[in-house]
Amino acid sequence: MDTEIFETTESQVRSYCRSWPTVFTGASGSIMTDEQGKEYIDFFAGAGALNYGHNNPKLRSELIDYLTSDGLVHSLDMMTPAKREFLQTFKELILEPRNLDYKILFPGPTGTNTVETALKLARKVTGRQHILSFTNAFHGMTLGSLSVTGNSMKRQGAGMPLTNSSKIPYDDYFDGETPDFLWLERVLEDSGSGVDKPAAIIVETVQGEGGLSAARAEWLQELRRLTSHHDILLIVDDVQAGCGRTGTFFSFEEAGITPDIVCVSKSISGYGMPMALTLFKPELDVWTPGEHNGTFRGNNPAFVTATAALRHYWSNDDFEKGHLAQVIDTLQDALMKIAVEVEGTTVKGRGLLTGLYFEDPEIASKVAAVGFENGILVETSGPQDEVLKLMPAMTIELDVLQRGLHILAECVSEVTKQDISLVLPEPANA
Ligand SMILES: *Cc1c(COP(=O)(O)O)cnc(C)c1O
Repeated sequence: MDTEIFETTESQVRSYCRSWPTVFTGASGSIMTDEQGKEYIDFFAGAGALNYGHNNPKLRSELIDYLTSDGLVHSLDMMTPAKREFLQTFKELILEPRNLDYKILFPGPTGTNTVETALKLARKVTGRQHILSFTNAFHGMTLGSLSVTGNSMKRQGAGMPLTNSSKIPYDDYFDGETPDFLWLERVLEDSGSGVDKPAAIIVETVQGEGGLSAARAEWLQELRRLTSHHDILLIVDDVQAGCGRTGTFFSFEEAGITPDIVCVSKSISGYGMPMALTLFKPELDVWTPGEHNGTFRGNNPAFVTATAALRHYWSNDDFEKGHLAQVIDTLQDALMKIAVEVEGTTVKGRGLLTGLYFEDPEIASKVAAVGFENGILVETSGPQDEVLKLMPAMTIELDVLQRGLHILAECVSEVTKQDISLVLPEPANA
């Protein structure tokens, strides 16, 4: 296997290829293939950018038709039919049924672009500089996003002070010993607290990179109440948890809250193509034309696959209540069964943004490494990589999911030296 050019010429900053040291040649659905012809079951799904699997044929055929018809590929923010159809479809199938009245801004094509846009807009609207974010949060790698990110290794990459933000404890940070918002309430009401009133609070409903803690619905509701009461904008970063990953299109639907600003990216194009959205309440639409812009905001092929994904999977609740719910049940059931058998293990997260926490922080990385040998791709999450992270595609076939889960159980068993008998119900589609 020829990997020399990557090692000699590509920057040492590369990371995923170190966990999975092979050259991948193809992928279909939830199966990836490498140059040796070895197959892997993908429990990583492009870090959440491939919620509909690799090369989903329903989306691909529309993409190919679009490309061969000489449709525009690049168009800045000019008007195109592809963009019109995306806006109409997103409004009709996603926003209106959920009673969400948002304006849509296309920032640059990545997650950190939508986070930067949200922070910048919140500051512009309120005239305040400070942003609050949460312990173990992850919001991206550019300076503004890094300033609201928790991880110290990632923050050190900035090479300059990351200012104008403070961290507050995420749900259950003190294991229930301290009332959730004690500190926040106190500092907001105390003019001597020294904490500047923030423009916004940014939150992930499930912390994708920071260890898969999932906020409770009551906690999110209380956060919404507090921010409304104090006239602080609430930003939900749904870059990883959104687009169906937690079981509903937006991850905050379960809590019934309406954020002021929502950041969407990773799986919004449905096909792994770069695309992002910043959604916000109409009264926040204050920028003058061109005050915020960028070259790659109109990725038309991504609009085409995004529209196709919404039409095929979200035009009614068949997919959400059917296959997606079944995949979630199967995965959660298996993780629970493994956790019961291995001491010091708990299930973290929600929906398909979930995983196993091990008391011994070395176990998750070892299981991921053994998993690679045995043909499953699983990542780790958390400040010490202490959580084994499972995020299969929402469209994964139930028999493939079960095959992967049996391999996973064997890998956990091999690393922890504990017998695990994982009996799963017969998959309905086998
Ligand atoms: C991945 C991620 C980002 C950053 O997205 P990029 O496309 O990598 O810039 C921001 N927020 C969350 C919650 C993410 O998971």
